[in-house]
Amino acid sequence: SPGLYFVATPIGAARDITLRALDVLASADVLVAEDTRTLKHLLRLHGITLGDRPVLAYHDHSGPETRDRIVARIAEGRAVAYASEAGTPLVADPGYQLGRAAIDAGLPVTTAPGPSAAIAALTVSGLPSDRFLFAGFAPNAGGPRRKWLRDLAGTDATQIVYESPRRLAAFLADLATTHGADRPVVICRELTKKFEEVRRGTAGNLATALKDQPVKGEVVVLIARAEAQVADEDTIDAALDAALERLSV
Ligand code: SAM
Repeated sequence: SPGLYFVATPIGAARDITLRALDVLASADVLVAEDTRTLKHLLRLHGITLGDRPVLAYHDHSGPETRDRIVARIAEGRAVAYASEAGTPLVADPGYQLGRAAIDAGLPVTTAPGPSAAIAALTVSGLPSDRFLFAGFAPNAGGPRRKWLRDLAGTDATQIVYESPRRLAAFLADLATTHGADRPVVICRELTKKFEEVRRGTAGNLATALKDQPVKGEVVVLIARAEAQVADEDTIDAALDAALERLSV
């Protein structure tokens, strides 16, 4: 049926795609991709033929003309499937503006859900999963990154960050300052791929370990929530006494 279908694709292992996602890719009238070559490769791997269906390229910064053209196809009654380069569209990937435009035009938006590195990393991290904040990519430059981290530090939830392997050591050094060297941190690298690795430690010891040992591949950093400051009875009594004294009662 007509509409915009956001299709999640693998984050590594090529077989991590749902049967329904393959059905949508096989039956959509129009295929749209962040990277048309990646999508064509995925289709070939899974034996899906394109026939005479177009594969259009789309990023959120492609501009309103491309977006309007895609929305027009949906409005004509076509099923349009959108896939980003890897994982779930819109998650640190294009798709938000396209979805918004379709919704504003009163058109159906649906999804064939599947892998996302953020959720995969949370799953294996061993950090509390009851409440989490996906923060996306950290800013590249030191100053903005430290400010961004300071704003994140008090968050009462597990924090999930995408970071480039080149900047990981600098990121961890900043993290040890903004969140404290003892803050539990987990680094998930190359999930679902051959060199999958999960390193658990603290901001301080991981910063030291990775300082002279650059990593390769794709990385997700997870940060434990700030420890709740629970006051015991003596602390509360002392604070009360001090307050009463100030009032000179
Ligand atoms: N849309 C994707 C998703 O749903 O996860 C994310 C796309 S974003 C442009 C790419 C970033 O995701 C990488 O820099 C890395 O932080 C993370 N990532 C993607 N695949 C990964 C993997 N297999 N292992 C670890 N991190 C991964």
